[in-house]
Amino acid sequence: MFRKILIANRGEIACRVIRTAHRLGIRCVAVYSDADRHALHVKMADEAVHLGGAAAKDSYLVIDKVIAAAQQTGAEAIHPGYGFLSENSRFVEACDAAGLAFIGPPVGAIEAMGSKSAAKSIMEKAGVPLVPGYHGDDQSPELLKAEAEKIGYPVLLKATAGGGGKGMRIVDKAADFDQALASAKREAINGFGDDTMLVEKYLVKPRHVELQVFCDSQGQGVYLFERDCSVQRRHQKVIEEAPAPGMSEALRAQMGEAALKAAQAIGYVGAGTVEFLLDVDDSFFFMEMNTRLQVEHPVTEMITGEDLVEWQLKVAAGEPLPKQQQELQLQGHAFEARIYAEDPDQDFLPATGNLSYLRTPEENRHVRVDTGVLEGDEVSIYYDPMIAKLIVWDQDRETALSRLAQALGEYRIAGVTTNTRFLKKLAEAAPFQQADLDTGFIERHEQLLFDETGGSYSPNLLALASLYALLKLDQERRQEAQRSQDPYSPWHGFGGWRLNNNPTLKLRFALPGQEEAEEVSVEASNATGNKNLWSVQLAQHKLLVEGRLEGDRLEAVVNGHHRSIHVADLDNQLTLFTPDEQFSCQWLRPDLDNHEFEEASANLTAPMNGSVVTLLVEPGQAVSKGDALMVMEAMKMEHTLSAPEDGQVEEFFFAAGDLVSQGAELLKFAATEEA
Ligand code: ADP
Repeated sequence: MFRKILIANRGEIACRVIRTAHRLGIRCVAVYSDADRHALHVKMADEAVHLGGAAAKDSYLVIDKVIAAAQQTGAEAIHPGYGFLSENSRFVEACDAAGLAFIGPPVGAIEAMGSKSAAKSIMEKAGVPLVPGYHGDDQSPELLKAEAEKIGYPVLLKATAGGGGKGMRIVDKAADFDQALASAKREAINGFGDDTMLVEKYLVKPRHVELQVFCDSQGQGVYLFERDCSVQRRHQKVIEEAPAPGMSEALRAQMGEAALKAAQAIGYVGAGTVEFLLDVDDSFFFMEMNTRLQVEHPVTEMITGEDLVEWQLKVAAGEPLPKQQQELQLQGHAFEARIYAEDPDQDFLPATGNLSYLRTPEENRHVRVDTGVLEGDEVSIYYDPMIAKLIVWDQDRETALSRLAQALGEYRIAGVTTNTRFLKKLAEAAPFQQADLDTGFIERHEQLLFDETGGSYSPNLLALASLYALLKLDQERRQEAQRSQDPYSPWHGFGGWRLNNNPTLKLRFALPGQEEAEEVSVEASNATGNKNLWSVQLAQHKLLVEGRLEGDRLEAVVNGHHRSIHVADLDNQLTLFTPDEQFSCQWLRPDLDNHEFEEASANLTAPMNGSVVTLLVEPGQAVSKGDALMVMEAMKMEHTLSAPEDGQVEEFFFAAGDLVSQGAELLKFAATEEA
C-alpha cells in the first residue's frame, strides 16, 4: 500500500479521501489555490502545496504544477477526486511518465469514455443497449437537424465532451432546433473547449439509474448495485438514493451485468459508474460511463458497508478487489441530498457569499455529513457551489426518508442562500415518498416544491423575530448596566422605555420583497406579573410572547405554545430556523441607517459575478415582455436576461466578453408608455 498520496482536488471530496487515507495510515498531501489557503482540506492534510491563482485554470487544472507538487513531497500516488483533472487522459499520461500511480482507470479507458459519441460506438459493439440517436462525426447543422427529424422530436442535443448537465438542450420541434444547437454549442465550447454534438431520442419519463462498478488490475470485476438519481434540476442530481425503489432482483442483475460488460469492454480498472436511462417498461439504455468516483458514491457505501475510497486505494496499489460479487450484500436504504449555495426560487441561480452561520446535524450511524467548509468560509465564484452532502441511512426507504427530512431541518445556514428548505420540501413531498420518480419530477411538482406563498408569512414568525429582538435588547442593556457607574439603577433595566413614560416600544423589520417596513408595537404585559411577558401587536394580530435566549437558541412561547428555535443574527439580518420553516428579515434598529431597505431594481442588474456571452437585440429595437435581451454566463452556466415589460433597450453598458460584477447595471430599459 502507498505511504503517501497527493489529492489533486479541493472541498468535500478532498476531505473525504483524506479521512479514509488517514484511517489506513497513509499520509496526505493537499494542493490549494489562493482562494483556498485556509480551506478545510488544507487543514486536514499532513502537508499542502500552493498551486496558484484562485481560478481552477491557474491552480487545480495545471497538470505540471500538480505533478511537481507530488514529486516535491514524495507522494507515490495521486487521487484526482471528481471534476478537475479526474477524467483528463493527459493528466493520467503525465502521472505515468512521472512514475506516479494514478488512483483511477488507465488512460485508454478514460479516452474511450471521454467522448459520449465514441463511448456509444464502443457500447454498441459490446452489445450494451443504447438510446436511438446519431453519434457520428459529420457535424454540419443541416445533417444534425435531418438526423433529429429522423429520430423524431423531442430530441436531446448533447455535447459529446459534456458533463454536469452542461451543453445539453431538449428540442421539442424543428423550429427551435437552430437556436438550441447554437446555445448548446456555445456552452460546450466554454465549458469543455469542444462543441461536437450528438442527437438522441428524448425519453419522456425515464429514470436515471446508475450502476457502481469496480474492477481490479487482475481482470476481476463486480457491481455494487445501483443508485437512483432521477430527481434532477437542469439535468443535475439533487437527491440520490440506493437501492433504486421498486427494482426487481432480476432487473438489478441484468443491469449490473450490462454495466460490467461496459466496463470490461474498455479494460476498466478502479471505480466507475455506468449510467442508464430506465424506461417505464423496464427497458434500459446506456447513457455514459463516468470513469471516476461519483459525488453520490456515499449512498452505495451506506447500503454495502464498504468504503469505496479504500477500494480505490487498494486496487491502485495492485491488490485484488476486497470482495467478490457473491460476498456483497445490500442492506437498508440510503439517501444523499446535495446542499448547494443556490436559490431554488430563482431557477437555482448559484449564490455566493460568506457562510457566516453554519450548523450541521449531528453525525451518527444514521447521519453522515461530507463537507469541505467551515463556518466563516466563502462560497466563491471560482468553484462548484456545493457546500456539503447530507447522507442518511436506515433499514427501509420510509424511515430513511424521514431521517433525511429531519436532518435537513437541522441543517442551518445563513449568510448564503441555500437549497436546504427546498430539499426538505422535496423529502416531505408525497410523490417522493411514494417513489413516483423520473427525471421530470421537479418540474412536474413545481407547485408543491417552490415557494408559492408570494412572500407571505405567518404572523407567528414575526412575533418570534420580535421576541428575539426584545431579548437581545434586554441582554444588551444588562451588559451596558454592568459597565456603567451605577449598575443597579432601575433606568438601565429592560423596560426602561416604560419608565421613560413611553409605554409602547416600536420594532421595525424589513421583509424580503416587501417595500414598507413592518412595524410591531410591543407592550409589557402585566397579565402574570412576569416582566418578560410581552404583548406584541402586528397588523391585525395581537400575540403574547415570552422566552429565553441562550446564544443562538431561542426558547419561545407564543400564545402559550412553546417552541425551541434558532436565530442567526448577522448584523441584524435575522434568520429564524424553526423545525419547519426558515424566515429571514432585517431588524431595523433605530440607531442604524435604514437605507439598505430600498428595493433593488428588478432584473436588469447582473444576478451574479460573471461575463456577458452575447447581446440578443439592438438598442432601440422594440421588444415584448419576456423576450430574451442578453445572455450572461456565470459558474459555467448560461442565464438569459429577459425584458421585464414591452419596450426597448436604450443602451447596453457591456459588450460580449466583458466581465460584470453582481449588481452591476447591465442595460438601460425603457418600457413602452401605456396609450
Ligand atoms: P451529463 O454528462 O452532462 O451529466 P448525461 O448524458 O449523463 O449528461 O445526462 C444527464 C441527464 O440528462 C440524465 O440523468 C437524464 O436526466 C437526462 N437525459 C440524458 N439523456 C436523455 C435522453 N435521451 N432522454 C431523456 N433524458 C435524458
